[in-house]
Amino acid sequence: MSTSARRSDPPAAGTVTVSTGRRTAYLIVLVVIPLVAPAAAVVAVWGWGIGPRDLVIAALMYAVSIFGISVGYHRLLTHRSFRCRRPLRIALAVAGGLALQGPVSLWAAEHRRHHKYADRPGDPHSPWAYGDSGRALLRGLLHAHMVWFYTARRRSDRRHWVPDLLADPDIRWLDALYPVTAAASFLLPAAAGGLWAGSWAGAWSALFWGGLVRYAVVHHVTWSVNSIAHTFGDREFDTRDSSSNVWWVALLTFGEGWHNWHHAEPTCARHGVRKGQLDASARLIRMFERVGWAHDVRWPDPRRMAARRGPAADDIEPSGAGP
Ligand SMILES: [Zn+2]
Ligand SMILES: [Zn+2]
Repeated sequence: MSTSARRSDPPAAGTVTVSTGRRTAYLIVLVVIPLVAPAAAVVAVWGWGIGPRDLVIAALMYAVSIFGISVGYHRLLTHRSFRCRRPLRIALAVAGGLALQGPVSLWAAEHRRHHKYADRPGDPHSPWAYGDSGRALLRGLLHAHMVWFYTARRRSDRRHWVPDLLADPDIRWLDALYPVTAAASFLLPAAAGGLWAGSWAGAWSALFWGGLVRYAVVHHVTWSVNSIAHTFGDREFDTRDSSSNVWWVALLTFGEGWHNWHHAEPTCARHGVRKGQLDASARLIRMFERVGWAHDVRWPDPRRMAARRGPAADDIEPSGAGP
């Protein structure tokens, strides 16, 4: 992609102004705390360590948050790659909310805009926004990873990007009750730790590891898809953007790091479509389908995959029947 095709000022179409107060809140919740919490974790480990109880609670909260973002917010509600029963839909939306990345309608609006303008003017978080020289790319990587949360003066207008979600009564009350979900993101691990240990110290310790540190790690892992998986890694399918595959990002995000096919076919329920591309989120959707909780799953179509493949795609699996 040429430098001339990228610039830092996205068009304002489909956006609304963000107030200074809201940008400051984004700065604290989305930038400062995710940087400070891991540093605090290092100090905590230095001082009194982390026990198996906190590790189990943090790992469970991590898994729920990542699956909530990947399967709930992203594949189900943003891209409609499958349909499912109402209780599961609500549960997945709540699980995504526990990741503390905002109400689902806002998340989906930003993400649909990302797909429409991917790595071109209008993309809210392209690492190529400032050009492709070394310094410009480093600045772009930071921008795509987290800085855009604060620097963006305009955010995606929900009425423009997600009218379907705004028309959904379940999404409306989930959006309205988002502060409760955010509080639960900390109270759940604290309650689990307190009950397990039978002490306030256990609650505080689980609040720190399963709440604060877990959410910071979840944010960095998710944002790596926007930064790393639009910059490094291989690209076996032809897309107009720089979406790519990064195996360790895919591992940590339960499949979201297989980002190249996702941009080729955004509504597909499976992102890791080549041999060896483990996609835990697709496996979970497959499990939901098998037990009858999910239906109309959009599994990859081998003909469409063949039509989109580039020179590096000689080992695409012949069957598109799911993971
Ligand atoms: Zn992308
Ligand atoms: Zn997407």
